Amino acid sequence: MTNHYDALGVSRDATAEEIKKAYRKLARKLHPDVNDAPDAQDRFKAVTHAYEVLSDPQKRRAYDTTGNENGHDSGAGNFDGQGFAFQDIFETFFGGGGGQGHGPASRTRRGQDALISVRVELREAVFGVNKKLEIDTAVLCTTCEGSCCRPGTHPITCDVCHGSGQIQRPMRSILGNVMTLATCNSCQGFGTRIEDPCNECMGEGRVRNRRSLTIKVPAGVSTGTRIQLAGQGEAGPAGGPAGDLYVEMKVNNDPAFLREGDDLHATLSVPMTAAALGTELTLETFDGEQPISIKPGTQAGEVINLRNLGVTHLRGYGRGNLMVHVHVETPTKPDAAQEELLKQLAALRGETFTEGKLVNSGGMFAKLRDKLGNL
Ligand SMILES: [Zn+2]
Ligand SMILES: [Zn+2]
Repeated sequence: MTNHYDALGVSRDATAEEIKKAYRKLARKLHPDVNDAPDAQDRFKAVTHAYEVLSDPQKRRAYDTTGNENGHDSGAGNFDGQGFAFQDIFETFFGGGGGQGHGPASRTRRGQDALISVRVELREAVFGVNKKLEIDTAVLCTTCEGSCCRPGTHPITCDVCHGSGQIQRPMRSILGNVMTLATCNSCQGFGTRIEDPCNECMGEGRVRNRRSLTIKVPAGVSTGTRIQLAGQGEAGPAGGPAGDLYVEMKVNNDPAFLREGDDLHATLSVPMTAAALGTELTLETFDGEQPISIKPGTQAGEVINLRNLGVTHLRGYGRGNLMVHVHVETPTKPDAAQEELLKQLAALRGETFTEGKLVNSGGMFAKLRDKLGNL
Protein backbone atom coordinates (compact mmCIF):
# COMPACT_ATOMS: atom_id res chain seq x y z
CA MET A 1 0.00 0.00 0.00
CA THR A 2 1.15 3.56 -0.57
CA ASN A 3 2.58 5.78 2.03
CA HIS A 4 -0.05 7.80 3.91
CA TYR A 5 1.73 11.10 3.25
CA ASP A 6 1.77 10.40 -0.49
CA ALA A 7 -1.88 9.39 -0.39
CA LEU A 8 -2.77 12.83 0.93
CA GLY A 9 -0.15 14.61 -1.16
CA VAL A 10 1.52 16.28 1.83
CA SER A 11 5.10 16.33 3.05
CA ARG A 12 6.30 14.38 6.09
CA ASP A 13 6.51 17.54 8.15
CA ALA A 14 3.03 18.80 7.20
CA THR A 15 1.12 20.47 10.03
CA ALA A 16 -2.16 19.10 11.32
CA GLU A 17 -3.90 21.96 9.51
CA GLU A 18 -2.24 21.14 6.17
CA ILE A 19 -3.19 17.49 6.55
CA LYS A 20 -6.76 18.41 7.30
CA LYS A 21 -6.96 20.75 4.32
CA ALA A 22 -5.44 18.17 1.99
CA TYR A 23 -7.87 15.55 3.20
CA ARG A 24 -10.90 17.77 2.83
CA LYS A 25 -9.92 18.64 -0.70
CA LEU A 26 -9.39 15.03 -1.72
CA ALA A 27 -12.44 13.78 0.13
CA ARG A 28 -14.68 16.29 -1.62
CA LYS A 29 -13.23 15.22 -4.95
CA LEU A 30 -13.34 11.48 -4.36
CA HIS A 31 -16.50 11.15 -2.34
CA PRO A 32 -18.61 8.41 -3.94
CA ASP A 33 -21.59 10.75 -4.02
CA VAL A 34 -19.84 13.10 -6.41
CA ASN A 35 -17.26 10.92 -8.15
CA ASP A 36 -18.45 7.91 -10.06
CA ALA A 37 -15.07 6.72 -11.30
CA PRO A 38 -14.77 2.98 -10.58
CA ASP A 39 -11.78 3.44 -8.28
CA ALA A 40 -13.17 6.50 -6.49
CA GLN A 41 -14.51 4.53 -3.57
CA ASP A 42 -11.25 2.70 -2.96
CA ARG A 43 -9.22 5.88 -3.26
CA PHE A 44 -11.64 7.65 -0.96
CA LYS A 45 -11.18 4.90 1.61
CA ALA A 46 -7.40 5.05 1.24
CA VAL A 47 -7.17 8.83 1.77
CA THR A 48 -9.66 8.61 4.61
CA HIS A 49 -7.56 5.94 6.26
CA ALA A 50 -4.40 7.98 5.71
CA TYR A 51 -6.09 10.97 7.30
CA GLU A 52 -7.35 8.91 10.19
CA VAL A 53 -3.78 7.89 10.98
CA LEU A 54 -2.06 11.21 10.35
CA SER A 55 -4.65 13.34 12.14
CA ASP A 56 -4.18 11.42 15.36
CA PRO A 57 -0.90 12.56 16.95
CA GLN A 58 -0.34 9.20 18.65
CA LYS A 59 -0.99 7.11 15.55
CA ARG A 60 1.05 9.49 13.46
CA ARG A 61 4.04 9.15 15.78
CA ALA A 62 3.76 5.38 15.66
CA TYR A 63 3.45 5.46 11.89
CA ASP A 64 6.46 7.77 11.55
CA THR A 65 8.68 5.52 13.66
CA THR A 66 7.48 2.07 12.65
CA GLY A 67 5.78 2.72 9.34
CA ASN A 68 2.76 1.04 10.84
CA GLU A 69 0.06 2.71 12.87
CA ASN A 70 -1.21 -0.47 14.49
CA GLY A 71 1.78 -1.10 16.70
CA HIS A 72 2.14 -4.62 15.30
CA ASP A 73 3.63 -5.79 12.09
CA SER A 74 0.63 -6.82 10.02
CA GLY A 75 1.41 -3.86 7.81
CA ALA A 76 -1.58 -4.59 5.66
CA GLY A 77 -3.55 -1.60 6.86
CA ASN A 78 -6.69 -3.63 6.93
CA PHE A 79 -9.22 -0.94 6.27
CA ASP A 80 -12.29 -2.77 7.38
CA GLY A 81 -10.81 -3.08 10.83
CA GLN A 82 -10.89 0.70 11.02
CA GLY A 83 -14.56 1.00 10.30
CA PHE A 84 -15.30 2.75 13.52
CA ALA A 85 -12.87 5.60 12.87
CA PHE A 86 -13.84 5.76 9.24
CA GLN A 87 -17.43 6.31 10.22
CA ASP A 88 -16.34 8.97 12.67
CA ILE A 89 -14.43 10.98 10.10
CA PHE A 90 -17.00 10.41 7.46
CA GLU A 91 -19.60 12.04 9.65
CA THR A 92 -17.38 14.91 10.57
CA PHE A 93 -17.15 15.95 6.96
CA PHE A 94 -20.28 14.71 5.36
CA GLY A 95 -22.66 14.29 8.20
CA GLY A 96 -22.83 10.61 7.55
CA GLY A 97 -24.19 11.07 4.04
CA GLY A 98 -24.87 8.21 1.69
CA GLY A 99 -27.41 6.69 4.01
CA GLN A 100 -30.36 7.95 1.98
CA GLY A 101 -32.17 9.21 5.03
CA HIS A 102 -31.48 6.16 7.15
CA GLY A 103 -28.14 7.26 8.51
CA PRO A 104 -27.39 9.88 11.14
CA ALA A 105 -28.46 13.46 10.53
CA SER A 106 -25.92 15.92 9.21
CA ARG A 107 -24.75 18.84 11.32
CA THR A 108 -23.72 20.50 8.11
CA ARG A 109 -26.55 22.37 6.46
CA ARG A 110 -26.88 25.15 3.95
CA GLY A 111 -27.29 28.53 5.60
CA GLN A 112 -30.38 30.64 5.23
CA ASP A 113 -30.89 33.35 2.69
CA ALA A 114 -30.61 36.85 4.06
CA LEU A 115 -32.55 39.93 3.05
CA ILE A 116 -31.54 43.53 3.53
CA SER A 117 -32.90 46.68 2.01
CA VAL A 118 -30.99 49.59 0.61
CA ARG A 119 -32.16 53.10 -0.21
CA VAL A 120 -31.16 54.72 -3.46
CA GLU A 121 -31.94 58.15 -4.82
CA LEU A 122 -34.06 58.45 -7.96
CA ARG A 123 -31.03 59.77 -9.83
CA GLU A 124 -29.15 56.58 -8.84
CA ALA A 125 -32.03 54.44 -10.06
CA VAL A 126 -31.92 56.25 -13.40
CA PHE A 127 -28.26 55.53 -14.07
CA GLY A 128 -27.28 52.70 -11.68
CA VAL A 129 -24.80 53.07 -8.85
CA ASN A 130 -22.31 51.15 -6.73
CA LYS A 131 -23.46 51.00 -3.11
CA LYS A 132 -21.41 50.05 -0.10
CA LEU A 133 -23.42 48.02 2.39
CA GLU A 134 -22.73 46.88 5.91
CA ILE A 135 -24.05 43.39 6.37
CA ASP A 136 -24.31 41.25 9.43
CA THR A 137 -24.39 37.50 8.78
CA ALA A 138 -23.05 34.24 10.10
CA VAL A 139 -19.70 33.28 8.57
CA LEU A 140 -17.54 30.19 8.86
CA CYS A 141 -15.72 29.99 12.20
CA THR A 142 -12.05 30.26 11.32
CA THR A 143 -10.95 28.75 14.62
CA CYS A 144 -12.47 25.32 13.98
CA GLU A 145 -13.13 25.76 10.25
CA GLY A 146 -16.66 24.58 10.75
CA SER A 147 -15.79 21.33 12.52
CA CYS A 148 -17.48 22.71 15.69
CA CYS A 149 -14.76 21.03 17.77
CA ARG A 150 -11.97 22.65 19.71
CA PRO A 151 -8.95 22.46 17.38
CA GLY A 152 -7.20 19.12 17.78
CA THR A 153 -10.33 17.32 18.94
CA HIS A 154 -12.95 15.38 17.02
CA PRO A 155 -16.57 14.46 17.52
CA ILE A 156 -16.90 11.11 19.22
CA THR A 157 -19.27 8.43 18.09
CA CYS A 158 -22.39 8.34 20.19
CA ASP A 159 -22.23 5.34 22.50
CA VAL A 160 -26.00 5.10 22.75
CA CYS A 161 -26.80 4.66 19.06
CA HIS A 162 -23.29 3.65 18.00
CA GLY A 163 -23.21 6.33 15.34
CA SER A 164 -26.45 5.57 13.57
CA GLY A 165 -28.30 8.54 15.06
CA GLN A 166 -31.27 6.28 15.62
CA ILE A 167 -32.28 3.80 18.23
CA GLN A 168 -34.57 0.85 17.89
CA ARG A 169 -37.49 0.62 20.22
CA PRO A 170 -39.69 -2.41 20.58
CA MET A 171 -43.37 -1.63 20.30
CA ARG A 172 -46.31 -3.85 20.95
CA SER A 173 -48.82 -4.08 18.15
CA ILE A 174 -51.61 -6.41 17.14
CA LEU A 175 -49.01 -8.23 15.05
CA GLY A 176 -46.86 -8.75 18.10
CA ASN A 177 -43.70 -6.86 19.00
CA VAL A 178 -42.27 -4.71 16.21
CA MET A 179 -39.14 -2.60 16.23
CA THR A 180 -39.48 1.08 15.46
CA LEU A 181 -36.72 3.58 14.81
CA ALA A 182 -36.50 6.81 16.78
CA THR A 183 -34.01 9.66 16.79
CA CYS A 184 -31.30 9.11 19.36
CA ASN A 185 -31.77 11.69 22.11
CA SER A 186 -28.23 11.39 23.30
CA CYS A 187 -26.75 12.83 20.08
CA GLN A 188 -29.90 14.48 18.66
CA GLY A 189 -29.62 12.07 15.75
CA PHE A 190 -26.17 13.22 14.63
CA GLY A 191 -24.57 9.92 15.54
CA THR A 192 -21.70 11.78 17.14
CA ARG A 193 -21.29 14.05 20.10
CA ILE A 194 -19.02 17.04 20.38
CA GLU A 195 -17.44 16.67 23.79
CA ASP A 196 -15.13 19.60 23.45
CA PRO A 197 -16.84 22.35 21.43
CA CYS A 198 -14.92 25.16 19.79
CA ASN A 199 -14.87 28.15 22.16
CA GLU A 200 -15.08 30.68 19.39
CA CYS A 201 -18.37 29.52 17.91
CA MET A 202 -19.79 27.52 20.86
CA GLY A 203 -19.77 24.45 18.67
CA GLU A 204 -21.88 26.01 15.92
CA GLY A 205 -19.10 26.09 13.33
CA ARG A 206 -20.06 29.66 12.45
CA VAL A 207 -19.90 33.07 14.06
CA ARG A 208 -21.63 36.42 13.50
CA ASN A 209 -19.65 38.85 11.49
CA ARG A 210 -20.15 42.37 10.22
CA ARG A 211 -18.60 43.12 6.89
CA SER A 212 -18.92 45.67 4.17
CA LEU A 213 -19.78 44.77 0.66
CA THR A 214 -20.01 46.91 -2.44
CA ILE A 215 -22.87 45.97 -4.71
CA LYS A 216 -23.66 47.10 -8.20
CA VAL A 217 -27.18 48.49 -8.38
CA PRO A 218 -28.18 48.28 -12.03
CA ALA A 219 -29.86 51.19 -13.77
CA GLY A 220 -33.64 50.95 -13.79
CA VAL A 221 -34.32 49.50 -10.34
CA SER A 222 -37.48 50.51 -8.58
CA THR A 223 -38.82 50.03 -5.07
CA GLY A 224 -39.17 46.30 -4.50
CA THR A 225 -36.54 45.21 -7.04
CA ARG A 226 -34.38 42.50 -5.47
CA ILE A 227 -30.77 41.80 -6.35
CA GLN A 228 -29.57 38.28 -5.58
CA LEU A 229 -25.99 37.75 -4.45
CA ALA A 230 -25.19 34.04 -4.44
CA GLY A 231 -23.40 32.71 -1.38
CA GLN A 232 -23.43 36.03 0.51
CA GLY A 233 -26.16 35.05 2.97
CA GLU A 234 -25.88 33.23 6.28
CA ALA A 235 -23.15 30.59 6.50
CA GLY A 236 -24.64 27.21 7.37
CA PRO A 237 -23.97 25.39 10.62
CA ALA A 238 -20.94 23.11 10.83
CA GLY A 239 -19.24 24.44 7.71
CA GLY A 240 -22.36 24.35 5.55
CA PRO A 241 -22.44 26.56 2.46
CA ALA A 242 -23.86 30.05 2.80
CA GLY A 243 -27.31 30.97 1.56
CA ASP A 244 -27.87 33.85 -0.80
CA LEU A 245 -28.18 37.50 0.04
CA TYR A 246 -31.12 39.43 -1.38
CA VAL A 247 -30.85 43.20 -1.49
CA GLU A 248 -34.21 44.90 -1.84
CA MET A 249 -34.31 48.36 -3.34
CA LYS A 250 -36.16 51.32 -1.94
CA VAL A 251 -36.07 54.29 -4.26
CA ASN A 252 -36.46 57.65 -2.53
CA ASN A 253 -38.94 60.17 -3.87
CA ASP A 254 -37.37 63.09 -5.65
CA PRO A 255 -38.52 66.65 -5.00
CA ALA A 256 -38.43 67.59 -8.68
CA PHE A 257 -39.25 64.44 -10.60
CA LEU A 258 -42.12 62.02 -10.27
CA ARG A 259 -41.61 58.52 -11.64
CA GLU A 260 -44.24 56.56 -13.49
CA GLY A 261 -42.87 53.30 -14.84
CA ASP A 262 -39.73 54.37 -16.63
CA ASP A 263 -41.08 57.83 -17.47
CA LEU A 264 -40.34 60.87 -15.39
CA HIS A 265 -42.63 63.84 -14.93
CA ALA A 266 -41.55 67.37 -14.08
CA THR A 267 -43.36 70.67 -13.82
CA LEU A 268 -42.02 73.79 -15.48
CA SER A 269 -43.42 77.11 -14.34
CA VAL A 270 -43.77 79.70 -17.11
CA PRO A 271 -44.94 83.27 -16.50
CA MET A 272 -48.25 84.05 -18.19
CA THR A 273 -46.60 86.58 -20.47
CA ALA A 274 -43.90 84.11 -21.53
CA ALA A 275 -46.55 81.46 -22.22
CA ALA A 276 -48.41 83.97 -24.39
CA LEU A 277 -45.41 85.41 -26.20
CA GLY A 278 -43.16 82.31 -26.34
CA THR A 279 -39.64 81.99 -24.95
CA GLU A 280 -36.61 79.72 -24.55
CA LEU A 281 -36.02 78.29 -21.06
CA THR A 282 -33.73 75.69 -19.54
CA LEU A 283 -34.73 72.83 -17.25
CA GLU A 284 -32.27 71.14 -14.90
CA THR A 285 -32.61 67.37 -15.50
CA PHE A 286 -30.63 64.31 -14.37
CA ASP A 287 -28.78 64.71 -17.69
CA GLY A 288 -27.89 68.35 -17.06
CA GLU A 289 -29.58 71.49 -18.35
CA GLN A 290 -31.95 70.94 -21.25
CA PRO A 291 -33.24 73.76 -23.49
CA ILE A 292 -37.03 73.98 -23.51
CA SER A 293 -38.80 75.90 -26.24
CA ILE A 294 -42.05 77.53 -25.11
CA LYS A 295 -44.08 78.28 -28.23
CA PRO A 296 -46.18 81.45 -28.33
CA GLY A 297 -49.66 80.67 -27.03
CA THR A 298 -48.61 77.75 -24.83
CA GLN A 299 -51.50 76.65 -22.59
CA ALA A 300 -51.37 75.57 -18.95
CA GLY A 301 -51.05 71.78 -18.70
CA GLU A 302 -49.35 71.35 -22.05
CA VAL A 303 -46.81 68.52 -21.98
CA ILE A 304 -43.44 68.73 -23.64
CA ASN A 305 -41.97 65.28 -24.20
CA LEU A 306 -38.19 64.98 -23.89
CA ARG A 307 -37.46 61.57 -25.33
CA ASN A 308 -34.94 59.20 -23.69
CA LEU A 309 -34.36 61.35 -20.62
CA GLY A 310 -36.35 59.06 -18.34
CA VAL A 311 -35.30 56.01 -16.34
CA THR A 312 -33.11 53.37 -18.01
CA HIS A 313 -35.06 50.17 -18.69
CA LEU A 314 -33.95 47.55 -16.17
CA ARG A 315 -31.92 44.82 -17.88
CA GLY A 316 -32.85 46.24 -21.24
CA TYR A 317 -31.92 48.95 -23.66
CA GLY A 318 -33.03 52.53 -23.88
CA ARG A 319 -34.77 54.83 -21.48
CA GLY A 320 -38.18 56.19 -20.76
CA ASN A 321 -39.13 59.80 -21.50
CA LEU A 322 -39.18 62.95 -19.46
CA MET A 323 -42.56 64.67 -19.63
CA VAL A 324 -42.44 68.35 -18.82
CA HIS A 325 -45.80 69.70 -17.68
CA VAL A 326 -46.16 73.42 -18.29
CA HIS A 327 -47.54 75.40 -15.39
CA VAL A 328 -48.62 78.91 -16.38
CA GLU A 329 -48.09 81.41 -13.61
CA THR A 330 -50.90 83.93 -13.43
CA PRO A 331 -50.01 87.13 -11.58
CA THR A 332 -51.39 86.69 -8.07
CA LYS A 333 -51.26 90.27 -6.78
CA PRO A 334 -51.02 92.68 -9.71
CA ASP A 335 -50.31 96.25 -8.65
CA ALA A 336 -52.39 99.14 -9.97
CA ALA A 337 -50.28 99.60 -13.09
CA GLN A 338 -50.32 95.89 -13.95
CA GLU A 339 -54.08 95.72 -13.34
CA GLU A 340 -54.62 98.65 -15.69
CA LEU A 341 -52.56 96.94 -18.41
CA LEU A 342 -54.43 93.65 -17.94
CA LYS A 343 -57.75 95.54 -18.26
CA GLN A 344 -56.55 97.16 -21.43
CA LEU A 345 -55.56 93.69 -22.74
CA ALA A 346 -59.01 92.39 -21.82
CA ALA A 347 -60.67 95.30 -23.60
CA LEU A 348 -58.57 94.62 -26.71
CA ARG A 349 -59.75 90.99 -26.60
CA GLY A 350 -63.41 92.15 -26.37
CA GLU A 351 -63.73 90.97 -22.78
CA THR A 352 -65.85 93.22 -20.58
CA PHE A 353 -65.61 93.31 -16.80
CA THR A 354 -68.36 94.75 -14.61
CA GLU A 355 -67.75 94.92 -10.88
CA GLY A 356 -65.02 92.35 -11.23
CA LYS A 357 -67.18 89.91 -13.22
CA LEU A 358 -66.51 88.87 -16.78
CA VAL A 359 -69.82 89.59 -18.49
CA ASN A 360 -68.77 89.26 -22.09
CA SER A 361 -65.82 87.39 -23.48
CA GLY A 362 -65.83 88.61 -27.05
CA GLY A 363 -63.57 85.94 -28.41
CA MET A 364 -65.23 83.09 -26.62
CA PHE A 365 -68.80 84.13 -27.44
CA ALA A 366 -67.87 84.72 -31.04
CA LYS A 367 -66.47 81.19 -31.31
CA LEU A 368 -69.62 79.75 -29.68
CA ARG A 369 -71.85 81.65 -32.12
CA ASP A 370 -69.84 80.24 -35.02
CA LYS A 371 -70.20 76.73 -33.70
CA LEU A 372 -73.91 76.88 -32.92
CA GLY A 373 -74.84 78.66 -36.15
CA ASN A 374 -78.33 80.25 -36.16
CA LEU A 375 -79.84 78.55 -33.15
ZN1 LIG B 1 -15.51 27.29 15.88
ZN1 LIG C 1 -26.79 8.73 19.42
